[in-house]
Amino acid sequence: MGAESLAPRAAGLSTRAVHAGGPAPVVGAPLATPIFQTSTFFNEPAGGGEILYTRYGNNPNHLLLEQRLAALEGAEACVVTGSGMAAIAMALLSCTAAGDRVVAARALYGGTLGLLHAELPRLGIETVYVDFTGDDWPAAVRPGVRAVIVEVPTNPLLRVIDIAAVAEAAHRAGALLIVDSTFATPAHFRPLEHGADLVVHSATKYLGGHSDVTGGAVLGSAERVAAVRQRARLFGTAPDPFAAWLIERGTKTLAVRMERHSRNGQAVAEWCERHPQVKRVHYPGLASHPDHARARRLLDGFGGMLGVELAGGGEAATRFVRALRLCRVAPSLGGVETLVSEPRHTSHAALAPAEREAIGIADGFVRFSLGIEDADDIIADIEQALQAV
Ligand SMILES: *Cc1c(COP(=O)(O)O)cnc(C)c1O
Repeated sequence: MGAESLAPRAAGLSTRAVHAGGPAPVVGAPLATPIFQTSTFFNEPAGGGEILYTRYGNNPNHLLLEQRLAALEGAEACVVTGSGMAAIAMALLSCTAAGDRVVAARALYGGTLGLLHAELPRLGIETVYVDFTGDDWPAAVRPGVRAVIVEVPTNPLLRVIDIAAVAEAAHRAGALLIVDSTFATPAHFRPLEHGADLVVHSATKYLGGHSDVTGGAVLGSAERVAAVRQRARLFGTAPDPFAAWLIERGTKTLAVRMERHSRNGQAVAEWCERHPQVKRVHYPGLASHPDHARARRLLDGFGGMLGVELAGGGEAATRFVRALRLCRVAPSLGGVETLVSEPRHTSHAALAPAEREAIGIADGFVRFSLGIEDADDIIADIEQALQAV
C-alpha cells in the first residue's frame, strides 16, 4: 500500500490519523477502504505463499487498521482484536507462563482484574496488586515478575502515574511493562515513548469513537507483537472485517474528536468545581488534581473523562443521574455522545461502600465520558439536573 508516501511517520498525528495505511491513489481505485467481508481468499493450488484467512488477522481490513494504529502510536507493529479484553488477554499470555508473577495496578478495568483474579491463576500465573500512586510499589517489582500492567490515566480518578519510573523498575526486574492506554489514546499519550513494552487499547472506546463497535489492539516492537499475534491466531481473537473497517473509519477523526473531548472536559470540570452542590471534581486538567503537574508533562490533552463527587452522597447521585436529559446513562465511554455512570453500580459494584470510600470513590461519585456536543448544552443539562436534586 502507498501508505508511507501519503503519511510518513514524520507527518503530524492528525495527518497520520487520516492517511496512514490508506490505499494508494491509483486511478479508478476506491478512495475509501472497501470492506473485505470474506472469511477466506483464493489460494495457490500447489500451496506456497501466505495463507490468508480472516481468523488469522490478515484480512486487508485488519492490516490497514494495524498500519494506521502503529503509525499513531509510534509502534513497529500492531495486532487488532475483537475486543479490548481480547487484546489484554493476548498481551498477558504472550509474555507469561506457569510459575510467573504479574504485578498489577489496583486501579485497573474490572474485566482486567477479573482475568487476573479468575483465569490466570488456573494457568499457574499469580498476580500481586499494588498502588502505583503510593511510594511502596517498587518492592513488589522484583525478579520473578514477568509483566507489570497499569492504566494511564486510571478509572475513575484519572490518576497519572510516573510511567518512566515503573518501566525502569520493570526492566530491572526482567519484566515487561504493559500499559492500557484506552483513556488517553495515542492522540494524548504514547506509552512506548516512556519505556512501555506493549500498549493495549479497547478500540471500543475513543479509537472507534461512535459507540457502535467493539475491538482492541496490542502494539509494540515487531518481536513482541509477533508473540501476541501467534496467540491471537490460536485463540481466534481477530475482529470481523466490518468491525475493523468501522474502527479504521473512526481513527480518521480521532485527533479532532480528542481535541473537543478535552475542551469539553476542561469546561465542564471548571464549571462543576465552582458549584456548591459539588464536593470534589477529578480531572487532570484542574490544578486541584493530585497529578496535574505530571499530567501536564506527560499528556498532550486531558481528555473527556471526568469524575464528579456530589455533596449530597448516593441519594443525590441517583436523583441527579435520573434528571439528566442530554447526558445518557450507560456504561462504556469514548463516544461522541456524553455518557454518565455511577461507579458504585458499574466498575466498582463488587466493592463494599467502605472499600470504595477508602480508594476515593465515595457514594455520590458520578463518572462522565464527555462527548463532542456543545459544552454549553452539557453544562445546562448538568445545571438543571443539579436543581432537580
Ligand atoms: C472498556 C475497557 C476495556 C475493555 O474493553 P472491551 O472492548 O470492552 O473488551 C479495557 N480497559 C479499559 C481501560 C476500558 O475502558
